[in-house]
Amino acid sequence: MGVENLVIVGSGPAGYTAAIYAARANLNPLLITGFQDGGIPGGQLMTTTHVENFPGFPDGILGPDLMDRMKAQAVRWGTRLIEADAEAIDLCQRPYRITAEGQVFETQSVILATGASANRLGLPSEERFWSRGISACAICDGATPQFRNEPVAVVGGGDSACEEAVYLTKYGSHVHLIVRGDRLRASAAMADRVLANPAITVHWNRQVADAQGNDWLDAILLRDGDAGANEELAVKGLFYAIGHTPNTRLVAGQLELDAKGYLVTLPGRPETSKEGVYAAGDVADAEWRQGITAAGSGCQAALAAERWLSHHQLAVTVSREPVDPQEVGEPIRTAVSDEVNFDANALWQKGSYALRKLYHDSNKPLLVVYTSPTCGPCHVLKPQLKRVLDELGGAAQGVEIDIEADQEIALQAGVTGTPTVQLFFNKELKETFRGVKPRSTFKAAIESLIGVPA
Ligand SMILES: Cc1cc2nc3c(=O)[nH]c(=O)nc-3n(C[C@H](O)[C@H](O)[C@H](O)COP(=O)(O)OP(=O)(O)OC[C@H]3O[C@@H](n4cnc5c(N)ncnc54)[C@H](O)[C@@H]3O)c2cc1C
Repeated sequence: MGVENLVIVGSGPAGYTAAIYAARANLNPLLITGFQDGGIPGGQLMTTTHVENFPGFPDGILGPDLMDRMKAQAVRWGTRLIEADAEAIDLCQRPYRITAEGQVFETQSVILATGASANRLGLPSEERFWSRGISACAICDGATPQFRNEPVAVVGGGDSACEEAVYLTKYGSHVHLIVRGDRLRASAAMADRVLANPAITVHWNRQVADAQGNDWLDAILLRDGDAGANEELAVKGLFYAIGHTPNTRLVAGQLELDAKGYLVTLPGRPETSKEGVYAAGDVADAEWRQGITAAGSGCQAALAAERWLSHHQLAVTVSREPVDPQEVGEPIRTAVSDEVNFDANALWQKGSYALRKLYHDSNKPLLVVYTSPTCGPCHVLKPQLKRVLDELGGAAQGVEIDIEADQEIALQAGVTGTPTVQLFFNKELKETFRGVKPRSTFKAAIESLIGVPA
């Protein structure tokens, strides 16, 4: 493999915008999307519902839809994607070296757009109740049956916590907002919305000390910040909204970081402390942290990288044929199968009718993915599963169940969060996978059922 002009690490608004600019500058950029370490492909906006403040969408747009569009635009102009985490970044000397999917990519320049990850509380029982009541993403998991008409809690006092508390009133019987101090840090409009909502109770000066329950979370222990006493609060869900940590682990010790771990750049510019290495988005921004600011800084980083590569005569540009790439068009959505449109041989279908038919009649392994409409990680996982089914050439089939539309099925299947994938073969449940997993995991599980040697 030759030396790349530019490798972009991260696929949030910053990474994709950088990719769009670099690709249109004919730099043939390589973008390592990330997968699990430090967030999912598409970044933080994959975990939210309506984005109302991104210019160009007067009626708002769903976060995952916005990120799909950015991805499609980057790919349309020739960005190459590696759908994996960067495992190591070596910036000791040029060309720089980035390891992902077991390969080492050498590159003249790098844009770091790795964003920030949601913080955890680190409760004594956190692991035990993770995905069994405790979640870091209300938008992803709020619709699961266990939270319906039950009391739930959100911990945090900023915009995210308030947004999640309001969102959860759609599902829970009551929402408790646990706030460490005596005021909300959220914007005034958001705070007013929470305080005026009778379905939300704010518990001031409280910290979550631990979680309790059997198979599922039943209660949380709250420590009173003033009195120091513990009190029990019965809830079926605990949602974390306690801020983010910048994803700079891979470059710590190689680039200048500030006291909180954010990348330090030249004031108002994308240059980091190393020549040819640029930062974009939340990874270098402790203050603004918005989709549009991340996108803007991605643009700056790509333009700066292009100028630097040209100045040092390092760029090996490509020419595009045809000059204007084919238009992307609107995404095609899978219709719910019924008696009329059910296809016994289709690789991928949707809904309870297809599930029942395939479960009873198909002799192939059946992947059932349980999703909810607002779940960004589901959005990431579905194309991965479809690709596995394509690669297996019809040896297995897939069905998507929307747990909001098919609540009974989700309850019977014991779904505790989305995405959940169950693998059936000959009417037997063979394996359950919770959360986003690499494609290879599903492929190996199916191949072991149909006797393909590893
Ligand atoms: C719940 C929620 C709601 C929000 N709502 C809004 C809103 O309405 N409007 C708005 O403007 N902003 C909103 N934001 C903020 C916005 O999402 C962020 O500011 C923006 O996504 C930052 O973009 P980014 O590209 O810098 O990073 P991110 O979006 O965090 O993306 C980082 C990317 O880096 C990748 N990555 C991390 N580690 C690695 C690695 N080792 N290798 C490869 N890739 C890696 C991740 O997979 C991810 O793709 C919201 C945020 C949250 C959490």
